Amino acid sequence: MTSALPRQMRAMVLERPNQSLRLLELPVPSPGPGQLLIRVAACGVCRTDLHIVDGELPEPKLPLIPGHEIVGSVVAIGSEVSRFGPGQRVGVPWLGHTDGTCRYCQRGQENLCDHPEFTGYTVDGGYAEYTLAHEQFCFPLPEDVGDAEAAPLLCAGLIGYRTLRLAGDTARRIGIYGFGAAGHIVVQVATYLGREVYAFTKPGDLSGQDFAHRLGAVWAGGSDQQPPVALDAAMIFAPVGALMVEALKATAKGGTVVSGGIHMSDIPAFPYRLLWEERVLRSVANLTRQDGEELLALAPQVPVRTQVETFPLAAANEALQRLRAGAVEGAAVLEMS
Ligand SMILES: [Zn+2]
Ligand SMILES: [Zn+2]
Repeated sequence: MTSALPRQMRAMVLERPNQSLRLLELPVPSPGPGQLLIRVAACGVCRTDLHIVDGELPEPKLPLIPGHEIVGSVVAIGSEVSRFGPGQRVGVPWLGHTDGTCRYCQRGQENLCDHPEFTGYTVDGGYAEYTLAHEQFCFPLPEDVGDAEAAPLLCAGLIGYRTLRLAGDTARRIGIYGFGAAGHIVVQVATYLGREVYAFTKPGDLSGQDFAHRLGAVWAGGSDQQPPVALDAAMIFAPVGALMVEALKATAKGGTVVSGGIHMSDIPAFPYRLLWEERVLRSVANLTRQDGEELLALAPQVPVRTQVETFPLAAANEALQRLRAGAVEGAAVLEMS
């Protein structure tokens, strides 16, 4: 297998934050122990990539190949690889590796590991024709989903699913603030699980509200509107701290407001009475492999249908700009072929 591989690959590379990515020819990397070399078929463009490119997250690896919603096929394996072999389709998520030994890993919170690697942030990711990944952190993918359509499941889907879990099993009426890649997946999962979803878009975004209705939301409106009923929980997928307060206002006693994002603007001061009556304000960080296994098993049952806007690899800057402008309906995905 290895002899048929090219020596060079094309990649979109971040050399400095706040600069455009550059299309470069780089050597195809070699898999180390436990690693897979993957020919990338598609890689989702996540809001976290935008935060990295825009310098809003500290200390990325530089230069960096971004991208952590990777779908591809194994073309070579390192030593000690046992789960996957050449030809198999795999998905690579944000959580690239953990130490397995810290107090968080030991108690089942590997998403909070003290020594993690994050795909497309602290190690190179999928805005490239080839990438490396640790096999223990890769997922097999449902067969009846195309490469580009599967890519958003690997972060938008997984983080959305974890956010839904942390919103609480007893939460029946659930708000989604920010109806993008994560929102359009989690509304399908939540509806399948018997929840009522109330979708909040940018004020006046009628096409976004229509999109939410089509995917199963029982109500859709602007984030400046109050829902017709008090919510048991709300999930925030837009990087806007003020939405945490808006969501608290819409939440019933004992309700939970969960932010699914890695970065948001400051949360404005708010009166304690909004938090009173045992309301909870919390964040979600990263994912565990169990989250991934659960969502990827659930997705074909729903079945989750992702809506993607595809771009060639060399148009990654344009994809990021469309995401920045809020112009993508569903998820943006780079296709390599
Ligand atoms: Zn750890
Ligand atoms: Zn992401």
